[in-house]
Amino acid sequence: MQIKIVTIFPEIFDSFLGVSLIGRAIEAGRCTIEVVDLRAYARDRHRVVDDEPYGGGGGMVMKAEPWLEAVRDLAAEASWRVQLSPQGSRLDEAKVRELSGRERLLLLCGRYEGIDERVRKLVVDEEISIGDYVLSGGETAAMVLVEAVARQIPGVVGLADSVENDSFRHGILDYPHYTRPRDVEGLAVPEVLLSGDHAAVARWRRQEALRATLTKRPDLLEAAELSDEDHRILGRLRGKQ
Ligand code: SAM
Repeated sequence: MQIKIVTIFPEIFDSFLGVSLIGRAIEAGRCTIEVVDLRAYARDRHRVVDDEPYGGGGGMVMKAEPWLEAVRDLAAEASWRVQLSPQGSRLDEAKVRELSGRERLLLLCGRYEGIDERVRKLVVDEEISIGDYVLSGGETAAMVLVEAVARQIPGVVGLADSVENDSFRHGILDYPHYTRPRDVEGLAVPEVLLSGDHAAVARWRRQEALRATLTKRPDLLEAAELSDEDHRILGRLRGKQ
């Protein structure tokens, strides 16, 4: 997968792209990520990319021309052009998986009051938001999107299993995790996890995933794919609530 990110603050991505999962994915050739400075497409010698808003008031607006030139120069035919925006459709598991199936992504990170509306109309395929709040720039939103999408690329996360059981993957939350030591300030690891009985561990994990979902995000249960056994477990858990 190839991802290009356009921003006026490329340096924000330096450490993000160098370490951990993303760094390893790039090193292993699973994906390439290029960060491009929008100012390289500014027309004047001061590399200005913003201007006052028509109609007055408010803050500065990012000019259309540098964005249009950048997108047209950087996007290949197969590129899916995403503008990070609080007005976009909300990023969720389904959207992340859909995006991870694309060969090429081009991400537009806005700043100030946002990007001149004509850019969206002329060269953007989709606006995506990471939540109902306003950030100062699209860079952190792009990082969220890139990290979530990269986890879906086969081979990026070491153990396929750890993605397979991630929260939301099958419509419910993940089960709780424990590691050494066995006792932490009087809280012991559940006995079943020490039993060596893989079937019992799997049953316990499913039950605890359902419990976490019921307690923290009951709304997810409406759309989750649940077996008869899951419904029995939920019935029991509800009885104890
Ligand atoms: N005036 C705009 C509005 O209210 O719709 C907000 C502009 S915001 C200060 C500047 C940039 O941050 C946006 O162009 C966008 O790229 C990014 N941004 C802000 N909030 C975001 C969010 N929730 N999701 C994705 N990008 C966001």
